[in-house]
Amino acid sequence: MAVLGLSDPSNGDWGRLRGLQYSSLARVTQVRVISHVIAALAVIRIYFGDVHIAALIGWFVVLAASLYYGASIDKSLVDVDRRRIGRDEVQKQTMSSLGNALIWVVPMAAFAPFGDASQQLELWAITAMLLTASAVLLSAVPLANLVLTGIMGVSALASFAWAGSFEMALLTVLFGVVITLGSVETARSFLTARIAESAMAEKSEVVSMLLREFEEGEADWLWQIDTARRVRSASPRFAFALGLSPEEIEGKPFIQLIAGPAWDTGQFPSSLHDLAERLKRRESFSNCLVRVTISGQQRWWEISGTPKLSDTGSFDGFRGVGSDVTEQRESSEKIAHMARFDTLTGLPNRMMVTEALGEAMRYADQWRTKCAFLMIDLDRFKAVNDTLGHLVGDQLLARVSERLKSLVTDNELCGRLGGDEFAVVIRDASDHNRVVRVAEAVIDTLSRPYEVDHHTLYIGASVGSAIGPRDGTTVETLMRNADLALYRSKEEGGGQHFGYEPSLHAHAEERRKLEFSLRRALEKNEMVLHYQPVVDASDEQILSFEALIRWNSEDHGFVSPVKFIPLAEDTRLIVPIGEWVLREACREAVRWPANVKVAVNVSGEQLLDPGFIGSVVQALSSSGLPAQRLELEVTESIFVRDATTARQALEQIMSLGCGVALDDFGTGYSSLAYIRDLRFSTIKIDRSFVQGASSGAPESLAIIRAVVAMAESLEMSTTAEGVETERELEIIRGLGCRKIQGYYFGRPMPAAEARGLFHDSKLRVAQ
Ligand code: C2E
Ligand code: CA
Ligand code: CA
Repeated sequence: MAVLGLSDPSNGDWGRLRGLQYSSLARVTQVRVISHVIAALAVIRIYFGDVHIAALIGWFVVLAASLYYGASIDKSLVDVDRRRIGRDEVQKQTMSSLGNALIWVVPMAAFAPFGDASQQLELWAITAMLLTASAVLLSAVPLANLVLTGIMGVSALASFAWAGSFEMALLTVLFGVVITLGSVETARSFLTARIAESAMAEKSEVVSMLLREFEEGEADWLWQIDTARRVRSASPRFAFALGLSPEEIEGKPFIQLIAGPAWDTGQFPSSLHDLAERLKRRESFSNCLVRVTISGQQRWWEISGTPKLSDTGSFDGFRGVGSDVTEQRESSEKIAHMARFDTLTGLPNRMMVTEALGEAMRYADQWRTKCAFLMIDLDRFKAVNDTLGHLVGDQLLARVSERLKSLVTDNELCGRLGGDEFAVVIRDASDHNRVVRVAEAVIDTLSRPYEVDHHTLYIGASVGSAIGPRDGTTVETLMRNADLALYRSKEEGGGQHFGYEPSLHAHAEERRKLEFSLRRALEKNEMVLHYQPVVDASDEQILSFEALIRWNSEDHGFVSPVKFIPLAEDTRLIVPIGEWVLREACREAVRWPANVKVAVNVSGEQLLDPGFIGSVVQALSSSGLPAQRLELEVTESIFVRDATTARQALEQIMSLGCGVALDDFGTGYSSLAYIRDLRFSTIKIDRSFVQGASSGAPESLAIIRAVVAMAESLEMSTTAEGVETERELEIIRGLGCRKIQGYYFGRPMPAAEARGLFHDSKLRVAQ
């Protein structure tokens, strides 16, 4: 029924198959029309003279019309293989076949009675031939065929029966059955062929699409070798990958082409050896990563291949695809390396250090040992970076890492955590002395001077350590605790090693509390200024006072400025505090004799604050103190962060008429350059030199002499700080310092006491 088109099975795309059936009609239309016309002319010839000519012509015209109509239907169905055929179209076609068949009934029913038996046989022969031709031509459309066969067969049967020739009638029946069965069978095989054909077409379309895509893909190529592993049917792309032309590689051993010099030595890289083995063993393989040598260059190929079989099923070589994955591989290697190593120094980075610490902690846990984590921070590195630039800074970091690397053994791993922070993981730190030894070696080694870019650089290192699992059972806590210890070391001035202690937490907590109190210190009136006299070295007359802040905290008692000023700087609380000091100092100074100046300390944080100049002007104008009587003390550290802004601020201060003193000279980084550039009014030589000079240290003496000489030539004044004894005073005087400050002439004292000094003839007050 399905073949006949009378029902559509649920499986399969029958709409399309019907289309394939009917679209084939048009191809045979012409032959069909011609065969019908010939048959019709033969029929007319048989009955010419017996049947009225008009009837014959009339019949022929009707037949021609029906054929024309049928042909036009066939033509309209020519494209149904690409669209679905409609039920009405099938019906129309069947009806036209039916009409055509009925027209053929006419000669048998209407002409035959006018002729004799031999004419009838002739007619039957023509009919049978036409039926046979139709069965062949309409094989794709059995329904039309059956209609034709059925009607013509039945009418022939009837006409033979009418004439009493039963043998012929029987033959007609048999012939009809054969034709029917035959045409159904042909239709079935037609359909089967069409089904297979369309599946093939679909498949080949997919294959060609895949191939196209593959060929358009950048890196891939096809390769093929024969049983002797020689390249066959070399594709241009494959040849290109080998850096040769297809002709050059055709017939060459595949392995030779990719082995490079290894072909002669036989020393294949293992991946290439693997490939050769697989080819030898006739194994299929996919995405095999092979190190190849192409035109002397090492590259990575990813190759897949399957053995090829000949028609007889015997091994016939290999066929496969390949691509060059060198770039991907290198970049993924690079990424993997970058993810674990620091680019600047080549040391393991934070991630790898963290991993190593985790590993060390597991090891310690397993073997009941201890591990250690050392956190290292460079002292004064920032100064180098800021004054000499990042290029020098980077070179210095590279030198530091070299030295660090030279220190570690198999038991340790050193890495860079970022910036100027480094770390060492000690795997087995059961021996506590070992941790101390490593830490000291690190400080020692890293603190030796560096020669970078014609500069001699002096930096130091601070180390904080934590022992696992004692000081922390997780990587995070151990790192945090080592950091806490490092922080402590920094706070103590650096250049030291501190081990973690639980009290450090308390220390950090204390700092937090101190900050809390500091925020409220001004409004609670807990700050006061003390004043320390500075005297003329020759006549010991008071020239000025240095204002020094004192904090008597309600919560913490008396807190040294050495402790809270850095905290104030870190938290930028120094800005409001500094403003208060300026105002307070100026207000006090106007009460002193007109020739006595006041010196106020200014932090770098303050100087960089945009409101700083305004606050100086404000302090001067509200107090009425002449600018000439105010001297600001700054240290070299102000040039470290933003030298340009600091310099501009100082120049503005100077243009107001204020003096600027360079404090703590000699303790900073590189000093002389600043002194030459800026017109300081005073250079204050740090107490350490005064002490050094009095104990006869030649460098201290040399430095003081040099500074004094230079200051003289630049018309600057010099102050020696921290003169405590008569002896120190004598030496300093001898060296030519103009001014002297120190406990010898007076400790920092409350304002009232300082004022009282002007009434005393003798300067040295009770100590
Ligand atoms: P500085 O500016 O170098 O101040 C001199 C320090 O040396 C003062 O310590 C002073 O008491 C001490 N000193 C003076 N003569 C002698 C001596 O003969 N022997 C000894 N051993 N020490 C002497 P102080 O007051 O503790 O101040 C420490 C630091 O705190 C100051 O160092 C300064 O850097 C900072 N500071 C103090 N007040 C202020 C302030 O108002 N603003 C800012 N930004 N910093 C301040
Ligand atoms: Ca000072
Ligand atoms: Ca000082």
